[in-house]
Amino acid sequence: DIVVLGSTNMDLVTYVEKAPQRGETVPGRELRTIPGGKGANQAIAAARAGGTVSMIGAVGNDAFGTRLRSTLEHSGVDTDDLRTADGPSGTAHIVVDAEGGNAIVVVPGANGTLDHLSPGDEGVIASASTLLLQLEIPLPAVLAGARAARRHGVRTVLTPSPAQPLPGELLAAVDLLVPNEHEAAVLTGRTDPREAAGALLDRVPEVVVTLGAAGCLYAARGAEPLTVPAPEVTAVDTTGAGDTFVGALAVASGEGRPMPDALRWAAAAAALSVQREGATVSMPYRPEIDELYAS
Ligand code: ADP
Repeated sequence: DIVVLGSTNMDLVTYVEKAPQRGETVPGRELRTIPGGKGANQAIAAARAGGTVSMIGAVGNDAFGTRLRSTLEHSGVDTDDLRTADGPSGTAHIVVDAEGGNAIVVVPGANGTLDHLSPGDEGVIASASTLLLQLEIPLPAVLAGARAARRHGVRTVLTPSPAQPLPGELLAAVDLLVPNEHEAAVLTGRTDPREAAGALLDRVPEVVVTLGAAGCLYAARGAEPLTVPAPEVTAVDTTGAGDTFVGALAVASGEGRPMPDALRWAAAAAALSVQREGATVSMPYRPEIDELYAS
């Protein structure tokens, strides 16, 4: 079973020709409200990929919170440990321009209240086989989650996003680190993904650096690094690609599939998600992943 400890955000997405400069007003095509947040994204991706998933997190006591919770439930995520905090839900204000580039303001809202684990959380983590972590909730809770997982022999996968330097004590409790190229560079000061992965192996036993359309690079201590290509597709929105990849990867490796195989399956899931707009709404279900993987 998979437990996700992380964020939920309502993404407020507008589509414009060109993002406004300071003092400027520009027309937008439409406003879409799309459930997101890296924690929720990974939980939904894993559940749709066929995993048994529960989510520890917090939504606000507003309409966004109600919708975030029901979206998770509709995708099959167990929300018994999702708190409702007093105050607004987390939001991400996203402006997408005609070239598909984006500018984002994140307001943590309820996610900011998650600065510690609640009494029941350790038991939930202990009963899982994999814990998925990201960095959109306060670091003390991330660290507490990783430590609880370590105590109970639960495999911990960390997506180090948003990019930031990390305390050694957190990395010491992580089994698999999954940065994108930018995050790998911030963590190591090296822009070459191979060099960055090599440097990260001094701190964690396994690393996957995701490389966008170029696929990913897998490195483990004592083994030759492995590059896994991504299926060639036409991308229309890559928001949430990394989260889809991690969610699917957790499902495949949780089923005991060897890493090269699990990575190819995760790449198929992510390739499906980038062909459609919106992070969570674009995430594929297992039969579609199996089909692209087999082709
Ligand atoms: P993030 O979304 O976290 O920035 P990446 O851009 O590296 O991370 O994408 C994560 C994964 O999603 C990649 O390893 C790849 O498998 C898949 N992916 C991303 N962009 C594309 C694309 N244009 N075509 C196919 N697969 C993609």
